[in-house]
Amino acid sequence: MLIGDEWITRSADALESINPATGAVNYHVSAATETDVNAAVAAAHEAVRQPAWRDLLPHKRARILQRIADGIEANAEELATLQMLENGKVWRECQAQVAAAAAVYRYFAAACETLGSEVTPARGDYLSMTVYEPYGVVAAITPWNSPMTMEAQKIAPALAAGNAVVLKPSEITPSVGLVVARIAREAGLPPGVLNVIPGTGAVAGRALVAHRDVRMVSFTGGTASGRAIASVAAERLIPVGLELGGKSPHVIFDDADLDAAVAGVAGGIFEGSGQSCVAGSRLFVQRRVYDTVLERLVAHAEGIRVDLPDTDGAQMGPIASFAQRGRIEQMIETARREGGCIATGGRRPSEKRLENGAFYQPTVITDLPNQATPVREEIFGPVLCVLAFDDEADLVAQANDTAFGLAAGIWTADYRRAWRVARAIEAGTVWINTYKQLSIATPFGGFKDSGIGREKGLSGVRLYQQSKALYWQLDTPAR
Ligand code: NAD
Repeated sequence: MLIGDEWITRSADALESINPATGAVNYHVSAATETDVNAAVAAAHEAVRQPAWRDLLPHKRARILQRIADGIEANAEELATLQMLENGKVWRECQAQVAAAAAVYRYFAAACETLGSEVTPARGDYLSMTVYEPYGVVAAITPWNSPMTMEAQKIAPALAAGNAVVLKPSEITPSVGLVVARIAREAGLPPGVLNVIPGTGAVAGRALVAHRDVRMVSFTGGTASGRAIASVAAERLIPVGLELGGKSPHVIFDDADLDAAVAGVAGGIFEGSGQSCVAGSRLFVQRRVYDTVLERLVAHAEGIRVDLPDTDGAQMGPIASFAQRGRIEQMIETARREGGCIATGGRRPSEKRLENGAFYQPTVITDLPNQATPVREEIFGPVLCVLAFDDEADLVAQANDTAFGLAAGIWTADYRRAWRVARAIEAGTVWINTYKQLSIATPFGGFKDSGIGREKGLSGVRLYQQSKALYWQLDTPAR
């Protein structure tokens, strides 16, 4: 782990990093104890007060962020390899995520250099202003599905805003955060401004959120963990940004380009083996085209190449961990018990070369109602539940009948209908005739149980700042 300017190794209770594609042990990674958490927060608390960081002018802070982006690009191979070894994403996707992470640093470098303060309308003979200041120490806690991008989306804006960060990466994907921290030090980030402490949620994560010098928590992960963190933050009266789970509805109307829709739906659930918070995991198909769509979807799913993530042409790698595959398999059992019909998949692949990995076939389930457990709960795997709908009103009611509200997709040729439905669906992102298109310039986050706050976009910097009002008297006091 990196605490202040010191690389520390702890062999006691080290985390075993397992390659989910082969089952082999990659290496062991130190697990932070409460003492390490205290040391990391102390280092960050000290660093954020030092003139080297506190007084660094925004354009100079921006230069460091630009150099971090350069470093990420220069070390792209190492970063993509580490992510692939730890969570099994296919090589092409790991490379794309490294490039995306560099772009995130560049975007927030530009924001850092250009975002200004405001002179607000005065109501008397005074000047009133709003300036923005960092919270101090920000805790960033991240999941395992896309550590490259998720961590960049927190660290870059938090640093752009002038904070110091303690990153607690997922226990399954601890390494890319460590490499980025090394790159950041080489890029000239002062010691202690970015600390990385791999460890478990139960020990390191909890201690970090509860620490009295942590002034803001930025969390991405499951809804149950988010709720637990939010309740500690409520008690401590500190702000939180929460990017949580989803059960996103994907909708095909009968006038849609069905081939494009089927490809979009398949990509929306099977890319990354379905381990994406925005996975379109509930598909609603207008009844008139239901059979056609199902037939094409099953054919598409069966054509997806599930393979070792570093194989040329692999479209889906393994599930990120054996424990997560176990949870998916349990959910498939639940689907069967609740009357679901497995239209394709529902099992591990049979190829010998994949037998030691945590692989699972793309799976399509039909015949379950919207209230069934696999349709209600986030599975976080390559599992799509397909339902039928009659008309727009029926669709909106079913799509919104969920605790989540992260994303949605609509396929239709009728732009008026797309507009109405997009506005009626309770979700933080709605895609129309596309899916999973994401831009760092556009705010992202969830409605309902999918989270609080918005990352990305220029307001992504404000998430990590508090505003301060300044009033200047202008008239000459009477003597
Ligand atoms: P998780 O909630 O189990 O863990 C996420 C992180 O939180 C890990 O680093 C973990 O160690 C830590 N943690 C867990 N409990 C904690 C606690 N009580 N206090 C402090 N830290 C704690 O999630 P996961 O299984 O790693 O990731 C999958 C989940 O993340 C899914 O639900 C997925 O939808 C969600 N996710 C959301 C987004 C988004 O942007 N909305 C993006 C990716 C993943």
